[in-house]
Amino acid sequence: MTTLVPTTEQLRTHYNDPDTCPSDSLKPVSLIEEKAFVSWQQDIPREYLAVAPDELDRRIKAARAYLGKKLVILGHHYQRNEVIQYADFTGDSFKLAQHAAAQEEAEYVLFCGVHFMAESADILTRPEVKVILPNMAAGCSMADMADPDAVYAAWDVITEMLEGSGSKVIPITYMNSTASLKAFTGERDGIVCTSSNASKTFDYAFERGDKIFFFPDQHLGRNTGFARGIPLDQMVVWNYRLPNGGLTKEQVERAKVILWQGHCSTHQRFTVQQIEKARKEHPGVNVIVHPECRWEVVQAAGQNGSTEKIIKTVSDAPKGSTWAIGTEINLVNRLAQQNPDKTVFCLDPVVCPCSTMYRIHPAYIAWVLEGLVHGHVLNQVKVDAATRKWSLVALERMLALP
Ligand code: SF4
Repeated sequence: MTTLVPTTEQLRTHYNDPDTCPSDSLKPVSLIEEKAFVSWQQDIPREYLAVAPDELDRRIKAARAYLGKKLVILGHHYQRNEVIQYADFTGDSFKLAQHAAAQEEAEYVLFCGVHFMAESADILTRPEVKVILPNMAAGCSMADMADPDAVYAAWDVITEMLEGSGSKVIPITYMNSTASLKAFTGERDGIVCTSSNASKTFDYAFERGDKIFFFPDQHLGRNTGFARGIPLDQMVVWNYRLPNGGLTKEQVERAKVILWQGHCSTHQRFTVQQIEKARKEHPGVNVIVHPECRWEVVQAAGQNGSTEKIIKTVSDAPKGSTWAIGTEINLVNRLAQQNPDKTVFCLDPVVCPCSTMYRIHPAYIAWVLEGLVHGHVLNQVKVDAATRKWSLVALERMLALP
């Protein structure tokens, strides 16, 4: 069973206050001063704990200069500013996968994101490239909701239920999943999707079968299916805690899409009430949310899209327009800074970053880069050869989509 990491919600509970977040200030501080730095983080040598932000910056820059072209740093949009500033390339998980696949010179890829992204980078880069995750505790609570053994068991039950019906089910795994689930998908005619291309992967699946088994994010699967005209009652949820996923044979036979009961704890915080409040307080406001939000939130928002689409939509919007955004706060804050001619704010008034993305603190970056300078590869993320073979098949199918 995958180790569960605390989510944004659990962080709030940990601090016994539903209205605050341990990283509310989002101000750069040393690692030891950071409230979110608690027992579930990866251990780091003590000498890095109290180093001030300015000194960390100086040391990271010195290590980068020493490593030169041997090193490429990839940064996900949900990383904080004091981390994203070091990225050679920024993007959502799809764009970063493309950047990883395009690296021809680098010996090391430092991935400022979460574990499943580093795994995908390892799969897509040349075998000799070493992919490094600064903090190995930077997981993804959504990815952890799809335990591979539970998915394999569900697949066996679903295919057994459909035996003799003439139906063919195609698995689609969201990028936010372990490499072993990507391999499982690749071996069964399936494909990996991101929030940028989920609809195209539905095209791919329906050209090869008549049903989709979609994991781990039920919301992305439902929002994608609904946008393509699939009625809600033909998209059923597989509850992995119940026998047969809590579904009857008839429900599975009738379904077009079987959704895994997983979600993103950051995006599930957005509500219809927040949208109504934004519209009341800011007449004429435009609302755009990420498709990992619940279906009713996506419907109320009117516009939805991947982080790349959100960035493009807001950046291309007319001067003076107002935008309420339903996605991770580091991205929203950066968009507000980059678009001073517009009003940009987060739909959730009690903002909280993705707690697992937030584990990439500059102290961890300094630690692993100084390790490389001294010839030590720390925190390498390595996917074994058998898993790599089939997950690469599933990832390349995605990268080959039109
Ligand atoms: S924002 Fe959600 S899906 Fe993305 S890494 Fe964080 S928990 Fe996972």
